[in-house]
Formats: sequence, structure tokens, C-alpha cells
Amino acid sequence: MCGPVDVHDTFGRPLRNLRLSVTDRCNLRCAYCMPEEDYVWLPRADILDFEEIARIVDAFTDCGVERVRLTGGEPLLRRELPELVRLLAAKPALRETALTTNGILLAELAADLQAAGLTRVTVSLDTLRPATFRVLARRDGLERVIAGLQAARQVGFIGTKLDSVVLRGTNDDEIVSLLQFAREIDAELRFIEYMDVGGATQWSPTHVVPRAEILERVASAFGTPVPVAGDGSAPAERFLLPDGTTFGIIASTTRPFCGACDRGRLTADGRWLTCLYATHGRDLRGPLRAGATRAELAALIRGDWGARADRGAEERLAAHARGAFADREALRSNPHLEMHTRGG
Ligand code: SF4
Repeated sequence: MCGPVDVHDTFGRPLRNLRLSVTDRCNLRCAYCMPEEDYVWLPRADILDFEEIARIVDAFTDCGVERVRLTGGEPLLRRELPELVRLLAAKPALRETALTTNGILLAELAADLQAAGLTRVTVSLDTLRPATFRVLARRDGLERVIAGLQAARQVGFIGTKLDSVVLRGTNDDEIVSLLQFAREIDAELRFIEYMDVGGATQWSPTHVVPRAEILERVASAFGTPVPVAGDGSAPAERFLLPDGTTFGIIASTTRPFCGACDRGRLTADGRWLTCLYATHGRDLRGPLRAGATRAELAALIRGDWGARADRGAEERLAAHARGAFADREALRSNPHLEMHTRGG
């Protein structure tokens, strides 16, 4: 099999990163992602098994994908996940197999994930207060997340990142303490602006703490942050503090970064999405289970990416009277619109 044949979209963006959801289920109900009481779940029979995922990933690497990030829902709910990590980590075309988790199950699985070849872990941590954790996630579990971070460190994961979605009036008063905590555990914190994506049915601009304000608050506590040059396609803008601490801001709501976006998404049932705000996507499970070859799958992926013109967050920013991206009825009739189905 010859090497990958890069494909570029209509803005010249390559396909380098694949966010791969391995389940739409989650053991938390975060207010900015799953605020509703009940959900329409993907049929279990449609969920790709590990061998199917590995075959689809091969086709993506033939189109230029070099990094895979395992997401959900909550990916650690997927049984035997280290086996999938082992399959992916063995692929020479992949430079990185990473994971984004809410950390609730990380303490139990950190050693197996590390041994299986997982490269890096990102843990969602929006608060250090148990009461706020319960308000935000509508479950308890803060101490398990902290234990998960300690376990990740003990088994030798480096370059761990923390993702904190900042909601005005809920956890925005923890911007400083979260940054101090990240520094203590040698992780890099990224503040995430509250996004009006998929399941965020309660989204309102009044709850958004914009990038500029986050920078002001950090500066008043730690001194002036200095921008750090990045590879341009990474969603987080990075900054350096006078004491050497680095942190990031993912400002998709007020300062979208679609210009260099090289990320595609695959849902747990094989729906290929070229943008977080894409409303449809392409079903790859059907052709895969109908016997499509690696080259035929790659041709479908290459075709869609080549025609890609997505700049979803920029269009949302330009939209007047901005509200939630999809209402409850739309989400129930098309669960692929949900954030927890498309892996954030
Ligand atoms: S909104 Fe779409 S195009 Fe823009 S950065 Fe996100 S995934 Fe990429």
C-alpha cells in the first residue's frame, strides 16, 4: 500500500486530525452539552466494533490523517477501550492516538491505556468545588476526576491537558484557581468559551465569558500573558505567563479558528462529519459493512473533504440574534446533531 495521498478542501486545508467518537453515552450530564433529561441514543447494532473502526481509520490515514483523538460521549465507558488504543497505536501512519475524557473512570484505566500506547490525555475539569461540579455535571464525581489525573501522572502520561468550559455565573470565578491547580499538577489548562453547538439547548450569549475577558482576569492575577506561536491548526491559542506557566483559550464563539481547521469527525455509528456544525455528514458504516475496500472508503472521504467549504463557527458568529444551534425537537429527530454524538 503506497503512502497517504493528501487531500485539501476548497480553502486549501488538509485533513490531518480525526476526532473519533467511540460511544454517544456519558456518565455525566454537563449543562453545556447534555442539559436535557432524556436522549435518543444511537442503536447499539449500529455502533462500530474495534475492527471496523481500525479499517475506517486506515482509510482516513490514506487521506492524510496523522492524529486520532478518541472522544464520546465519555469514551472510557466503552468496554475494552485499551484494545482499540492498541490497534490504533500499532498503525505506523498515526503519529498520535490521544483521548479526551471527563476523568470519572480514568483512575481505573490509566495504566492499561498507557500500556496500550495511548499518547496523551485531555481531561475535562470545569471546577474544583464539589457543589459546582454537581450543578454543572448534575452528578457527583470531582474527587474521582482528581484521582484520575493523579493516576495519569503516576503511570507516566506527560503533556496532559485540562479543558475548562467557562460559564458566566457558574464557574467563571474559578479562572484563577483552575490555572493554579493545573500548574500544580503540571498540566496545561485550556479555557473554552461556551459554544452554541449541538446539545447546548440552554446556550445564551449572556453566559459566555469571552476570550478577552478571560485574558484580563488571568493578567490581573498572574501578569500579562504573552502569545505563544503554534502550528496554526490547533484549536487552542496558547499563552505564556511571567512565571513560565502556559495555558490556552479555545475561543470558538468570539474568535473562531476555522481558517486552518484540519479536523474531521466520526461518530460511533460511522457518520463522517466535516465540521462540528455540519448538519448531515456521510454514513461510512453502510459501505463498510457492504464490503467496501480500503481504497473505496478513502475515495468517499477524499471526495467529501475535497468539496468541503465548512466554516461553521464563523458563520455562527456572523449570525444575528444568535441562539442555540439546534432545538430539542431537531436533536431528538436527528441525534447526530448532538455534541455528545459527534465528539465535541
Ligand atoms: S466550526 Fe467547523 S470549520 Fe470551524 S473550526 Fe470548528 S469544525 Fe472547523
